[in-house]
Amino acid sequence: MVNEAVDCTINNGEQAEYSVPSPSDEIRILNDLMRLLPPVAVKDLLSSGVCFQCILRLFGKYGPRFSNSFHLLSWLATFVDGQTSSGECMENDGLSKNGGSSDPSSSQRLIDEADICGICCGILQCNYIDDNKTLIKHNCTSDFAVSIGEVVKQEGHQAPDGFSLEVSIPPIIRETENAVRLLMKRKYGSDVWFQENLLPEIISVKEALKLSITNHLEKLLGVKCCPSSFRICMTYTCLEGHMKNENNMETTKAYKRSKKGSDNMEEKDGDSVVRIKEHPNLATIEGGLTMGKCSEILQDISLSFKPLLGKVSPCCLAFLCYRMPIYIGGRYLKYSRNVSQTRWIIDDERMGEASVEEIICNTILLMCQGDNYKFHAAGREDIDVRMLGSGRPFLVEIQNARLLPSEAFVKEMEGKINNFENKLVMVKNLKVVDSQGWTLMREGEAEKQKQYAALVWISRSLEDEDLFTISSLKDVKIIQRTPVRVLHRRSPLDREKIIHWMNIEKISGSSQYFVLHLCTQAGTYIKEFVHGDLGRTHPSIGTILGCRAEIHQLDVTDVKMDCFSTN
Ligand SMILES: [Zn+2]
Repeated sequence: MVNEAVDCTINNGEQAEYSVPSPSDEIRILNDLMRLLPPVAVKDLLSSGVCFQCILRLFGKYGPRFSNSFHLLSWLATFVDGQTSSGECMENDGLSKNGGSSDPSSSQRLIDEADICGICCGILQCNYIDDNKTLIKHNCTSDFAVSIGEVVKQEGHQAPDGFSLEVSIPPIIRETENAVRLLMKRKYGSDVWFQENLLPEIISVKEALKLSITNHLEKLLGVKCCPSSFRICMTYTCLEGHMKNENNMETTKAYKRSKKGSDNMEEKDGDSVVRIKEHPNLATIEGGLTMGKCSEILQDISLSFKPLLGKVSPCCLAFLCYRMPIYIGGRYLKYSRNVSQTRWIIDDERMGEASVEEIICNTILLMCQGDNYKFHAAGREDIDVRMLGSGRPFLVEIQNARLLPSEAFVKEMEGKINNFENKLVMVKNLKVVDSQGWTLMREGEAEKQKQYAALVWISRSLEDEDLFTISSLKDVKIIQRTPVRVLHRRSPLDREKIIHWMNIEKISGSSQYFVLHLCTQAGTYIKEFVHGDLGRTHPSIGTILGCRAEIHQLDVTDVKMDCFSTN
């Protein structure tokens, strides 16, 4: 029998819009719904301390409209008692033959609303232990959602593009509910209801919790729950020491007693009931309890849910909201010969007056209100080398940004960095890029060509012939043995590099100084190419011109890459 009016579950992953029903409607809806479920099994579960939400989801019937129905537990108990006391239902009452009471008011009496559900460990009852080890009990899911919304606001997050909700639950919950379903089939499989109906697929605690709070959160935050870089994460874990119970010895003894007595259930002492979570063979229960193991346990205990559920502790909830990293790319120009690319500290002493990384990233981090940054650039220049021309591509990763930068906001960032008084570093073409930006930058880096302008001194006067010699060289292959100055951090290797072209710009009034313009393959050591590095780079400007050559200043004038070359 399918009843559209009570089909409150979500079938296609979409959260249906729903309005809160009036109390009388709620009762009517529940009334219709409960008639679809097997009353004896429901009563049994209810008496075993299973929460209302878990009962519904075990039968695949949970939906957001029941998220706040905690107060209906008593109503439910009365309703189920009423149903099970009718002759038709009592025929197959598993409780009477399996140790349960047939007293019509039994469910009512057994329900203590303060009890923690033995299946969901209180998760769907909005009970949990917070960071301060305090037990928190919310009266309804909307209160719970309000407390989540408050944390989001306290953390200073804006979620203009929606949020995604991630819930993680301890594996033991899944195992317990599987065991309960297995037991239910074993215990009530011959009942009319189970003969006529296929037990619907269970709705997981994770899914049920999402169904319960998503609508409330959407209203509170004013945005939709959707795939978003803003994550709200709720991680439930078992209470520390919960698995290794303080009374472990006692539990083991109790288990043995229970096992001995398992052939004759009449001998079983109430106290000897073993909770699944304290089962001595399940010390590593978190590592995964298999259904096979569950079946083994099910052989040992009576056909009652209580040994599987027992009295459990609520889970600890770690709550976290964060923004996935955002990436801002662009090109930087460095006008100083005393600014390193990244923060450079030797023996607690800063090298240079500042770093490109800090100037750019501190500004962006502050404006996006993030927690941390990472700076990546396509190659690097020495502290005494200026970066001019089109600039060098870079990417800044901002972690947990509270503000998502709009196009206008990025322009504002660019303006702020470029208007620092000292003008050591400037940026251009700043824009928000996706995480692919880093890959693109790294891929392009290997193939890129770079142009330089070097102030060179030679040990003799520059001749017109030298200008011709230099400019006639195209795509010259050179071998560079790892330079002496970087030997401490790079392995000794011979590297082949290409000098694509060169030309000399004379300096008026100077016969031994000139500016060498050159374009080379990425990774060429320019200083070494000029002076030869004691013969480790060959050929060099020195060997080509047949004299000593020294480099006095170097500027990078162009990094030929498509990356961030336009706005
Ligand atoms: Zn529950």
